[in-house]
Amino acid sequence: MPENNEDTAGQIRKAVSVIRELRPAYKTLLDFYGQIFVAQETSKSRTHIIAIQIPEEVLSVKIREEFPLISMSEFAIDTEAYESLSREICSIAERDHGNMAVPAKMLIHAADTGKIELRSLFSGLLEGNSSFFEKITGELGIEKDSLAFLTYNSIKPSLSLCAEQLSGYLDTDNKWEKGYCPICGNPPAVSSLEGEGERFLFCGFCWHKWHAPRLFCPFCDNRDGKTLRYFYSEEEKEYRADVCDKCKKYVKTVDTRKIERMFHPPLEHISTLHLDMQAKDMGLESGVQTGL
Ligand SMILES: [Zn+2]
Ligand SMILES: [Zn+2]
Repeated sequence: MPENNEDTAGQIRKAVSVIRELRPAYKTLLDFYGQIFVAQETSKSRTHIIAIQIPEEVLSVKIREEFPLISMSEFAIDTEAYESLSREICSIAERDHGNMAVPAKMLIHAADTGKIELRSLFSGLLEGNSSFFEKITGELGIEKDSLAFLTYNSIKPSLSLCAEQLSGYLDTDNKWEKGYCPICGNPPAVSSLEGEGERFLFCGFCWHKWHAPRLFCPFCDNRDGKTLRYFYSEEEKEYRADVCDKCKKYVKTVDTRKIERMFHPPLEHISTLHLDMQAKDMGLESGVQTGL
């Protein structure tokens, strides 16, 4: 395992180039996301969050009732690190000349001319305040989804550091056999198969990893093998989509035993959009609600 954020950033860079070789169609997308993932990892070393305290009596209720530890609005964000990463991601987007270039330019211009405070954006996102985003969209003319994308990706290091800190509160005696994240309650973006075939889920918001039953739909709790299946392509044995015929949703799974590169779940998530397209053609719906 890499020892620090710089090492991890280097491993991510390598994983990006491996996937780019394997799937040239993803080159443009990976050039863009690769830079963002590396910037996020590097930003972690200068991100400092205030530890979130959960009083004993609150914790015991959460564990007993199987509630997530916090709600999204309770995440602690390092505003300084957020602002600097936000500017970095916007400049990556501008240089990339893709869909995000114009919104990124407009956002930085709005921040520099005092029309908007960058930090107000993440509070809006964490509080799930869509009217706040609509208001900004109206005032600045930046599309809501682009604003959410740029904001979410800039708070991601804080989110994962909070998740790491909060995981110390989780009940290690009992497995969390739920389809939602034990930290923040969001659904999983990807799952993995590891070791002896153990299955793990990764939160689509804070990216916390938790152990899950092998035969299990995280979206409707279905555990009936007759209505759970998966599809995959012969050329890509490391990927599959786990499908639930009961709720018609699926989750993409990476068999980490079949890859040599570092497993960075957000990277694998965006490198498998072809599986999402296949699933959509089959009339299936993704259970993911990520800001990616
Ligand atoms: Zn989470
Ligand atoms: Zn289901």
